[in-house]
Amino acid sequence: MTAIPFDNTFAQLPAQMFTTLAPTPVKAPAWIARNDDLAATLGIDAEWFGSDEALAVFAGNAPAAGSHPLAQLYAAHQFGHWNPQLGDGRAILLGEVVGTDGLRRDIQLKGSGRTPYSRSGDGRSWLGPVLREYLVSEAMHAMGVPTTRALAAVSTGEDVYREARLPGAILTRVAQSHIRVGTFQVHASRGDIEALTALFEHTVARHYPDAKTPNDLLHAVVQAQAELVAKWMGLGFIHGVMNTDNCSVAGETIDYGPCAFMDNYHPAKVFSSIDQMGRYAYGNQPGIAAWNCAQLATSLIPLMPDRDAAITQFTETVNTFADHYEAAYLDVFATKLGLADRTAQDRALIDNLLVMMADGGADFTNVFATLGTDAAVDQFTDRDGFAAWQARWVALRTDDHLSTMARANPQIIPRNHQIEAVITAAVTGDLGPFHKLLSVITQPYAPLDENREALAIPPTDQEVVTQTFCGT
Ligand code: AMP
Ligand code: MG
Repeated sequence: MTAIPFDNTFAQLPAQMFTTLAPTPVKAPAWIARNDDLAATLGIDAEWFGSDEALAVFAGNAPAAGSHPLAQLYAAHQFGHWNPQLGDGRAILLGEVVGTDGLRRDIQLKGSGRTPYSRSGDGRSWLGPVLREYLVSEAMHAMGVPTTRALAAVSTGEDVYREARLPGAILTRVAQSHIRVGTFQVHASRGDIEALTALFEHTVARHYPDAKTPNDLLHAVVQAQAELVAKWMGLGFIHGVMNTDNCSVAGETIDYGPCAFMDNYHPAKVFSSIDQMGRYAYGNQPGIAAWNCAQLATSLIPLMPDRDAAITQFTETVNTFADHYEAAYLDVFATKLGLADRTAQDRALIDNLLVMMADGGADFTNVFATLGTDAAVDQFTDRDGFAAWQARWVALRTDDHLSTMARANPQIIPRNHQIEAVITAAVTGDLGPFHKLLSVITQPYAPLDENREALAIPPTDQEVVTQTFCGT
């Protein structure tokens, strides 16, 4: 029986790109969650997945047959500051599988012990961030956003020490790859042409087989990032830490830390406690994604024969971000409103709605979830303003706008205060609220019923979460 059908390619790359090492075993692993659908896509044996042997693998207590465990090296600009060496400090790549859909994916443990890249960290994760990432990544997937996914979560039976003593946990994360802008940066900054060339070839073969040149790769990443961030914007999602190590070259949302979906809308909203300057505020995300692409461009220059020509060409390519983003953003919001066209007039309609939402502090999700129903006007303080806006909307939307909108506007997102409540319950040993919220947010477009209604309600002033913590 092939438990996990590993087929590893990153481990074949030059040895300086990673460190081969096994996860550190934990005391008393227990299941928190298993994602059976994802396991099936990955070709993981269903019976094995429920076994104690699988639990040992996903806790890092037993080697998985066919795995080549390793920690990847990378670097990063963190909040704009260059950090020449980072790497998987609390994660181990078990290996890759080619799924039943033909896609190659990484299977990685997060929270699996110290590595040579751990610096002063303990290599562990506590339960809170594991549950947050599980919920938010699976919600993002359900809403059609490219994202890493959660395959399993286990508790470790060990404590980790953060601001308090907290229960430890390990997330098994699945990604199209864990190649980051920072993965290119580290080899470029070291002048390691062997590694940089191997990484380029690996990335192209894996993610962008049509790309022939570094500029082709850059263009593909620019486009993928522009489309990704447009989707975040359409859901009121704030990543929180868009450092270059948290920017996937495959264009997936990766490294969920202090992320959040906005409740009441404001473009300057920030959640992360460590983002004191608001660098990664909601409205700054497209600009930051373009900036991250520029860092990728810089890292690709050593692969080019003529530095000046490369700079000219890459600058043009990075500058196409704005057009890709604008088109993607307009399409996302026009779909959310069921509009017929994507003209400047449509763009103005969208902008005016968002201004009204910001002025009145309207709930981002519930505005779009209720548009077209009698409940929509209740989301706005300026009822006359909304009525006037609605008259313009009626003229620009399609006849079947409601069905388009129902597929684009989630009724339920994992709200911050609900995630916090889930974590609080889980710390006391009650995983019921976690599983309830997971089942609801993975059906984001289903109509509200009495089982789901309560989870769609925005937080009260007492419940509102104003800050999220990396909590690593
Ligand atoms: P992040 O901001 O979560 O992407 O993490 C930035 C870097 O810090 C990465 O290289 C992580 O591997 C590392 N890191 C974060 N938390 C820990 C931890 N508890 N132990 C070791 N390394 C960590
Ligand atoms: Mg990271």
